[in-house]
Amino acid sequence: MLKCYDCMEEGKDNEAVSICIVCGKGLCLDHTKIMELPIWTGKYPMPVKMLEKGLPRVMCNYCITNTLVDAFD
Ligand SMILES: [Zn+2]
Ligand SMILES: [Zn+2]
Repeated sequence: MLKCYDCMEEGKDNEAVSICIVCGKGLCLDHTKIMELPIWTGKYPMPVKMLEKGLPRVMCNYCITNTLVDAFD
């Protein structure tokens, strides 16, 4: 079974319930962050309509702090 990567680093042993869409590591419920990111329109790889509600994206803490920083600058 897939284990939570963040728990492993803390010396704990938890089953992963989801996977970070950015780095692909397994995450337990405690380490899963759901981000409601807006859907971009007309960009590669395919043109998508703007949804009223952003798609929930599962991300880990690391990726949130390291990928979203730029967006809020
Ligand atoms: Zn965890
Ligand atoms: Zn990640």
